Amino acid sequence: MKKRLVVISLVFVFVFVTIIGCSAKNGETEIVSQETGNKDSKVVNLYTDRHYDTDQQLYDTFEQETGIKVNVVEGKSDELIERLSREGQDTQADLLITADAGRLHRAKEQGLLQTVDNEVLFKNIPENLRDNENQWFGLTVRARVLVYAKDRINPTELSSYEDLTDPKWKGKILVRSSTNVYNQSLLASFIELNGEEKAKEWAKGIVANMARGPEGNDRDQAKAVVAGIGDIAIMNTYYVGKMLDSIDAEEVKVAEKVGVFFPDQDGAGTHINVSGVGLTKYSKNTDSAVRLIEFLSGKQAQSQFAEANFEYPVNPSVEPSELLKSWGDFTPQSINLSKLGIYNKRASEIFDEIGWK
Ligand code: FE
Repeated sequence: MKKRLVVISLVFVFVFVTIIGCSAKNGETEIVSQETGNKDSKVVNLYTDRHYDTDQQLYDTFEQETGIKVNVVEGKSDELIERLSREGQDTQADLLITADAGRLHRAKEQGLLQTVDNEVLFKNIPENLRDNENQWFGLTVRARVLVYAKDRINPTELSSYEDLTDPKWKGKILVRSSTNVYNQSLLASFIELNGEEKAKEWAKGIVANMARGPEGNDRDQAKAVVAGIGDIAIMNTYYVGKMLDSIDAEEVKVAEKVGVFFPDQDGAGTHINVSGVGLTKYSKNTDSAVRLIEFLSGKQAQSQFAEANFEYPVNPSVEPSELLKSWGDFTPQSINLSKLGIYNKRASEIFDEIGWK
């Protein structure tokens, strides 16, 4: 985690003073505050796994508009959830922002979040992109797509996730380890849509067609496609955008040589997931925190928030970026993303049973 020694800032709220400071202890950025705990405190403390300059610009805009200061602690998602759990009632965090409905569900299951009943959020964020008890809300959308070698694969040969299990693709499929939450959520969506048995058959079929044992992250699958190790990678859309935008010239070259295909357009739709936000169970600044979620789901913030990571906005009234539009429209799976969390454990078990490492 980036250690940040941040200036001590003084925030005057009406007659009382809130002192917020950050210090580094045991490698963790710590928010130290006195006299918060008031519903009207002009401060929000945020744990996030995002680290984009544009996010900070949004928080600055929010502060200018509302007078509410946003204190950001950045970290890896699983570590932030673990930290929230460890801090319990004493946590200073009001909001948790992290990627994948599977992970957000984990935070919910551990009792770290609370329900937010808020009409603005209900209007800005479609029902399937938030928790079934409104304990977390999607803020940006990513699709798990097929990325193929443009020089070897004609996209007319591609169709569905299921087609990837056809023997014609033997030795051609690239995908990362099943320990990764993205694959767990993908399989969880198939459990919800087609039942456990079919989901298991699918996972088996992919293992049988793998170009190599699972290794590396999503970007590494695209690199392996271009290196000729396999022809088709299963990966998240935003990594193609990130590689095109990379300072590493090799990554740009790779991204230029692959195509993006949205599977299951004649079926249940392409698998999508979100990065999202939850109000912590022990938030001490709930009103300000909910105002920040409203702001991030609103028109002004949505495109910027999504584009920082080459994602799709959740708010249907906001257009995606030009790059994303260039890949074309697609029909997403319409299941409630809570299901990805609910079936996460079963998905992991299936992967173990069939030997997807
Ligand atoms: Fe990712």
